Amino acid sequence: MKIVHKCGHTGYSSVFGTEEAIAKRVTELENGDCTDCWLRKQPPGFLIKPLGAAGVVVVASYCYTIREELSARGYYFTQRAWRKKLTTQAQEEAERLWITERGFSIAEYVKRKRPVKKKTLKVRAKRLGL
Ligand SMILES: [Zn+2]
Repeated sequence: MKIVHKCGHTGYSSVFGTEEAIAKRVTELENGDCTDCWLRKQPPGFLIKPLGAAGVVVVASYCYTIREELSARGYYFTQRAWRKKLTTQAQEEAERLWITERGFSIAEYVKRKRPVKKKTLKVRAKRLGL
């Protein structure tokens, strides 16, 4: 379905559901920016992910407005984010300082615990001869 967004750009969206639900969703889309404009308005966010002995990787998201700056700092764009590997503590500290001085926030990486599936437990038990 063709949508004219608040920003003036035209986009296409697949909208499903009842007539009422479709009308509601279309109004929401029309009152909002297109995806590109929305992304451009997001403040850049930085995440520092440890790589064990290899150091850390800085992952920067929503960086449309500072792409050239990141590129000049040695970041590379992959998997929908800007990344930079830092191998020493001094490099990490310097990067943290730059991010903070530029007024951006840093999030620390939190490893999510994945629940172990029942099937996996059974396989493990079998392997152990239980
Ligand atoms: Zn737009």
